[in-house]
Amino acid sequence: MTTAQTLALFERYVVPNYTRLPVVLVRGEGSYVWDADGKRYLDLFPGWGVNGIGHCHPRVVAAVREQVGKLIHVANNFYMEPQGRLAQLISERSFGGQCFFCNSGAEANEGAFKLARIHTEPQRYKVITTYNSFHGRTLTTVAATGQAKYHRGFYPLPGGFVHVPYNDVDVVAKVCDDETCAILVEPIQGEGGVNVPDDDYLPRLRELCDQRGVLLILDEVQTGVGRTGKWFGHQHWGVEPDIMTLAKALGGGLAIGAFEAKAEVAKSLRPGTHASTFGGNPIACAGGIAAFEAIEEEGLLENAARIEQQVKDRIAALMKKTELVREVRGKGCMLGIELTRPGAEIVQECLRRGLLINCTHETVLRLLPSMAATEAEIDEGLDILEGVLTVV
Ligand code: PMP
Repeated sequence: MTTAQTLALFERYVVPNYTRLPVVLVRGEGSYVWDADGKRYLDLFPGWGVNGIGHCHPRVVAAVREQVGKLIHVANNFYMEPQGRLAQLISERSFGGQCFFCNSGAEANEGAFKLARIHTEPQRYKVITTYNSFHGRTLTTVAATGQAKYHRGFYPLPGGFVHVPYNDVDVVAKVCDDETCAILVEPIQGEGGVNVPDDDYLPRLRELCDQRGVLLILDEVQTGVGRTGKWFGHQHWGVEPDIMTLAKALGGGLAIGAFEAKAEVAKSLRPGTHASTFGGNPIACAGGIAAFEAIEEEGLLENAARIEQQVKDRIAALMKKTELVREVRGKGCMLGIELTRPGAEIVQECLRRGLLINCTHETVLRLLPSMAATEAEIDEGLDILEGVLTVV
């Protein structure tokens, strides 16, 4: 099928809710993807963070191939080995809790809200979240998301969410009351502009939650599974959440979400209170197990930290050459380059030159490169970006 033919199918048959680039991707390998016309792109924003260890990682491909010939799906009223093994991998590398599996980040957050409410009912129901957060597109996760542009057109939204500025514990202390069941934050805000909080933010939130008997929920949909150079974002600050939500990179590219909760909290979700038909299916879990093994055995946490340094060093040098760059920030393979002007045009020009990146919050170029990206690949991408930024 030609590019034009595929675009025509979308025009006629697919809901037009996305702003799509006019490129049909047909194949991916590591840090690269190819379009239907054979053009190769260096992908420094693979799958919006889903392809955390790159496209079609050989371990994921092999594990999924093997699993698909054995057992594709069974219902959650049976046991299945891959789900148990993936839960163990998550738990042993985080805070020793128990996992519930679903299929997306929004669903993971929805489940976390239900758990927080049922665990603290009947008195408590409110969840405090932050401005510029992003928690998903279902009605409830839109209500949780502290950005008005995602609310418009969808009123009335489900109630019970209170928004406060990010990186400010004093304001949380003020609005947290006897009806608050949880505080939900991203360890580093992603869609909100790659915002890294002060070092005492998460530790102080943890302390406040303990004082008030409120649950700390961390949305690690974007920061989880090695992205920031540690297994989970909160480990940079030595705090443990009561509940953590995951998705994106969790399945090595396959669709899966999860939340992990401390066992004493998890037990509130008694049989019959929550479920997901596809959640934790053997294939998605096989992809997830392979991703964890790849990260561990190929030293990808260390590589993510190396990539952070490489990008920060080069952008710091670039800042001496152009006024266009205001700041570079982030951790591991979650990096934001704040510009002094809107970045959409720059993303377009990079695309033309064979580099895929993203722009969020209007002026923040966002890179979520594969944790397995090589030094040469990152340099290739930064060469293209530098070329664009110094010409524009
Ligand atoms: N939470 C965060 C922090 C996210 O970045 C996203 C997706 N960008 C979501 C939740 C929603 O995930 P999904 O699209 O899988 O529902």
